[in-house]
Amino acid sequence: MTGSKIIDGKGFAATLVETVTAEAKMIAAKIGRAPSLAVVLVGEDPASAVYVRNKITTTTTAGMRSIEHRLDASTRQDDLIALITMLNDDDAIDGILVQLPLPEQIDEGAVINAIRPDKDVDGFHVVNAGLLATGQEALVPCTPYGCLRLLQNQLGDLSGNHAVVVGRSNIVGKPMAQLLLASNCTVTIAHSRTRDLATICRQADILVAAVGRPNMITADYIKPGATVIDVGINRVKTTDDGTGKSRLIGDVDFAGASVVAGAITPVPGGVGPMTIACLLRNTLVAASRRHGVNIAKL
Ligand code: NDP
Repeated sequence: MTGSKIIDGKGFAATLVETVTAEAKMIAAKIGRAPSLAVVLVGEDPASAVYVRNKITTTTTAGMRSIEHRLDASTRQDDLIALITMLNDDDAIDGILVQLPLPEQIDEGAVINAIRPDKDVDGFHVVNAGLLATGQEALVPCTPYGCLRLLQNQLGDLSGNHAVVVGRSNIVGKPMAQLLLASNCTVTIAHSRTRDLATICRQADILVAAVGRPNMITADYIKPGATVIDVGINRVKTTDDGTGKSRLIGDVDFAGASVVAGAITPVPGGVGPMTIACLLRNTLVAASRRHGVNIAKL
């Protein structure tokens, strides 16, 4: 039995995609072509291939153009950067996304920073990270932006809430903390060296888990009534019979946490769909800025 409201990320994302679709149509009418996203996949990582397929399908469904570049796992960094340079210079491309992780011979930072900041729809470039950190207009990383939108939809004004973010990666934890700070939360960032994590988490009005450890955040980490956002996506085996059956679970022990929390995102169907919706939104923002077309603020 659950005591908390389940935050419907899937439904909310669908509404956001509808808005993006309408605006993409409007931009297409003004610039004479659909907003376009180039997606680069290096290697054959199965999870990455699924993510890329979902991103491409949703992009196309929203009336945008998606151009896929698949490169061999042995691709050299110079060749990948040469492709990015070509996409940077291509006026028909509004957004560039390089699916992570990259094979080990390639320096991810060098690749991310080779993308033109105004086409960096993942928002990982140091320029976009710096703009976000200094409160300026940036392309914001999709997953934390999606979490912020869910929180605002759930709670309205976030001012004064104590938010605890567990995880400090550049793609989720740090930008999440920046966004919550910009929304006037009091923010604590926790990580693997944090002492007495449960006590810190129990102080949170808003708890964001972005760790990558299945079911790590249990009910005793949660203040009664808190809003819990579970970013984690962990694939776990459901049987030991060698059939390879598996399912996705989050970083939060949903069954226990949902009794204590005021509201909670499920996995799947919570943050994941919002990430893709925000990627489309970022592509739209990139296209609108490059072509001087106004779109509605969210
Ligand atoms: P990273 O591995 O880059 O970062 C994990 C963070 O968790 C690190 O900061 C690490 O601390 C911290 N951590 C690890 N173990 C503990 C612990 N025992 N206690 C406290 N903190 C701990 O992961 P990402 O940020 O890239 O992703 C996090 C999760 O979110 C993953 O499950 C990933 O699959 C998922 N994800 C989901 C997305 C979505 O669309 N829903 C998109 C992106 C990610 P330290 O820095 O000290 O090592």
